[in-house]
Amino acid sequence: MLNQVADGVWVRQSEWVWSNAIAVRGEDGLILVDPGIGGSDLNQLADDLDRLGIPVVAGFSTHPHWDHLLWHSRFGDVPRYATAAGARAASDARERGQRMAAESASGIPLELVGLVTPLPADGGPVPGEIAEHQAHAVGHAAVLLADRGVLLAGDMLSDVLIPLLDPRRPGQVDAYETALDRLGEAASHVDVLVPGHGAVAEGAEVTARLAADHAYIGALRRGQEPVDARLSQDWLSGPHRANLEQARRR
Ligand SMILES: [Zn+2]
Repeated sequence: MLNQVADGVWVRQSEWVWSNAIAVRGEDGLILVDPGIGGSDLNQLADDLDRLGIPVVAGFSTHPHWDHLLWHSRFGDVPRYATAAGARAASDARERGQRMAAESASGIPLELVGLVTPLPADGGPVPGEIAEHQAHAVGHAAVLLADRGVLLAGDMLSDVLIPLLDPRRPGQVDAYETALDRLGEAASHVDVLVPGHGAVAEGAEVTARLAADHAYIGALRRGQEPVDARLSQDWLSGPHRANLEQARRR
């Protein structure tokens, strides 16, 4: 089911890690941001879009992790964009992404995984402002739709996932803090925040998400075990330990 969160912005959540597929109405049609996850999700999203009656004109991937690089033929053969760094990383790691997609969910069209190209300098059909930063993944971008009062945050500012540092790059604690500052600035223009995973935040909850992630990163910086309610699920303790080790190596 598509949930309208602002004028011309719709969200569909998957069961798989509460992933949010986002449709944004642009000048010529819809831009699909991070559509996912399983084949039945993608089909239902296509049904929902048919009912909406607005054609899909482009895709946008917030970052080059497999669950943000998916597509379905029913969305059409349209350009799919990412930041330049994100597009490069997606093509370098395409086979790995296909493998992880196949292992993680069923019915994903594997031949369409990761086919993204660099967004033109003027943003092309993607509305709003791209806020690229160095946290979580190479070429990660948030999309600020200031005129709709919405920030699409990718894998940042989730209420279900802890901040996940990029294990492949040094200096991630600093990078994460810088990214949170950048997103905080962007968030000051909005009242709705759509994370890649978890609940859409509104109003005071947006500020609370920023504060929670600042607190988490602050604890890592001090070499402490962050206390975070999002760690209650066992499967998150692995990434949490990896974050702490990464912070200690900095
Ligand atoms: Zn993700």
